[in-house]
Amino acid sequence: MNLRVMPDGTVKVSAPWRMPAQTVTQFVSEHEGFIDKARQRFKDHQAKQADVRPYQYETGELFTILGYEAHLTVAPAKLHHAPYVTWSESEPANIYMFVKPHSTVTERAALMADFWEHLVEDVVKDMRDRIYHRYIAAGYDVPYPKLRIREAKTRWGSCSLVTERIMINQKLLMGPRLFLEYVMIHEFAHFIQPNHSARFWQVVAEFMPQWQMVRRELTHYFRGR
Ligand SMILES: [Zn+2]
Repeated sequence: MNLRVMPDGTVKVSAPWRMPAQTVTQFVSEHEGFIDKARQRFKDHQAKQADVRPYQYETGELFTILGYEAHLTVAPAKLHHAPYVTWSESEPANIYMFVKPHSTVTERAALMADFWEHLVEDVVKDMRDRIYHRYIAAGYDVPYPKLRIREAKTRWGSCSLVTERIMINQKLLMGPRLFLEYVMIHEFAHFIQPNHSARFWQVVAEFMPQWQMVRRELTHYFRGR
């Protein structure tokens, strides 16, 4: 016989065909301790999940930007000043959001989204320019690529030789700039070697000798995020 506790707390028993109901009941009552424990485990897990509530954009909330854990401070905007968001890139990092009185969660979420979008764009453009100049200085004939920044499920970046465009996964910007640097170097290397041949990795190593370590850290950093 086989007994399982389901996430909603119900118990499923599989028993051989024609086994008397009494034997099954007996079997279940013998496993009461196990059932209680399993139910408690599911309950604890669900309570933990419920804890991860969406942002309210209130003072004290924690955001991850460029590898920093940044605390949010919400304060009233000066009279006649438009609401805005800024941050300090230092340890400890802080985000300051200046809002109109009685701002709603939706308004604050939009402010934050706008801030994040601009920050990501600035950082990615800056990195593209830096890496482009390094490739040119090293004598490689690479195009000055257009950028596409978006939410991607499976890839940190990609490179289109035809459109001369590099795609960067914006989630990458939650981590330190070093990760973006690796992905940018990697995508630029595809302008020289479209595949992941030994020659390709040689080019990557020319600009980031420790790329293997960085790639490992990147994977580790985003595990479970
Ligand atoms: Zn690649």
